[in-house]
Amino acid sequence: MKINFQTHLDRQRTYFHSGVTRPLSFRKKALKKLNASIDRYSAEITQALYDDLHKSSFEALATEIGYVRKEIKDMIFNMESWTAAEKVATPIHITGPGSSKIITEPLGVSLIIAPWNYPFQLVMAPLVGAIAAGNVVTVKPSELSPATEKVVAKIIREAFDESHVAVVTGGIEVSKALLEIPWNHIFFTGSTKVGKIVMKAAADHLIPVTLELGGKSPTYIDQKANLKLAAKRVAWGKFINAGQTCIAPDYVLIHRSHCREFVKLLEKYIEDFFGSDPKKSSDYGRIISNHHFDRISAMLPNKAKCDPANRYIPPSPIIIEAADHPSMEEEIFGPVLPIIPVSDADEAIYFINARPKPLAMYIFTNKNSVKRRFENETSSGGLVFNDVIMHLANSELPFGGVGESGMGNYHGKFSIDCFSHKKSVYSSNTLIDIPLRYPPYKKWTEKLLNWIF
Ligand code: NAD
Repeated sequence: MKINFQTHLDRQRTYFHSGVTRPLSFRKKALKKLNASIDRYSAEITQALYDDLHKSSFEALATEIGYVRKEIKDMIFNMESWTAAEKVATPIHITGPGSSKIITEPLGVSLIIAPWNYPFQLVMAPLVGAIAAGNVVTVKPSELSPATEKVVAKIIREAFDESHVAVVTGGIEVSKALLEIPWNHIFFTGSTKVGKIVMKAAADHLIPVTLELGGKSPTYIDQKANLKLAAKRVAWGKFINAGQTCIAPDYVLIHRSHCREFVKLLEKYIEDFFGSDPKKSSDYGRIISNHHFDRISAMLPNKAKCDPANRYIPPSPIIIEAADHPSMEEEIFGPVLPIIPVSDADEAIYFINARPKPLAMYIFTNKNSVKRRFENETSSGGLVFNDVIMHLANSELPFGGVGESGMGNYHGKFSIDCFSHKKSVYSSNTLIDIPLRYPPYKKWTEKLLNWIF
């Protein structure tokens, strides 16, 4: 039987139109309830993340639970100022006397579709923004991280009335059915391929979309860089969550003279972080599914150290000379790190600009002139100098892609903007009515208009 969510959407829309989500006090109460529920279930969430991805409790806290709790805290603290109406100037010589402001109004009923790699954070962080902006929400977690899907569903069902925030579980068929109906906004995190499906479906109802997608995020290591720090930070950012991070360094372009030493340093840090056999490390993740295990392990010249039964692939830096290597065909989304020697920043910029705009770009250099070149000559969702991933941790920065890596952004205040419409409000004065705009038009008024413009 075909699934139909129209009745569900109608119920949520009626709830939205009742106006109950408008007062900030209601939104804050909802966020506090969510926070308390997350608190209550934090052990279960941590266990679920371990079951789905072998995620360590440290990473569960830092990148999922703690991250979301910080978003909630920031949202509650700043909600008044982030949603406040903004008074703007009114050019009296153009409009006549009056006043103007921009008000932030909720978009309405929003659909959030999430992926499996940070299966808690990527449901909850957008949800926090949607609630704070006064939306009614339906979320669909990923079916590929079933343990987290279950606890997310439990938390949402316990914390909210279904008319306010609902959770729908299931796979692609459910997702497709959700995409058939006229939401007021769709917030999608996932692959570029499915992003296109979402955007096509949204076009049928002219639904605005936020697309948080992926792609190949490059790293460039300049001749003038702190090589040790670069290796340490790249090893951390690439192998966290076994490389299944949307903004993980996908590949490294490195000055030829540093290539061998960089690989040696990477190997050292991999051992420092995960021991001589990362399979035994409680801090090293597993690949989400057999499909992804087969896809990623096929990129390796030697699979001897991979373990299909446990979906284990070791951290694997590989030097490649040509860009037609299988690891360069698509986003890796796993612990394989191709390292490509280049001669200089020119070659790196050319290489990057010949490919789709990435979600993130990491440049290791001590030279300001090189930094300025990457700022001005490349385009990416985010740009980081001498580090990886950390831009995501600063909620003062909007997080999102550009071009094929996505559209729209969120985190902190940007989440409120993401789930809101900026409504222009102009109030005209009724006591004075300047006659110039009304026909019949006269030559002298046209002259005056010409002068004004
Ligand atoms: P995915 O696109 O396969 O799935 C994401 C969601 O879409 C899931 O809930 C899934 O059920 C649904 N879906 C899958 N196929 C569908 C279809 N044909 N029609 C409708 N819905 C469908 O992505 P994934 O494998 O879960 O996640 C990995 C991708 O997500 C990577 O590309 C990664 O870079 C990206 N990602 C991006 C961010 C970001 O913030 N930009 C964060 C995490 C992951």
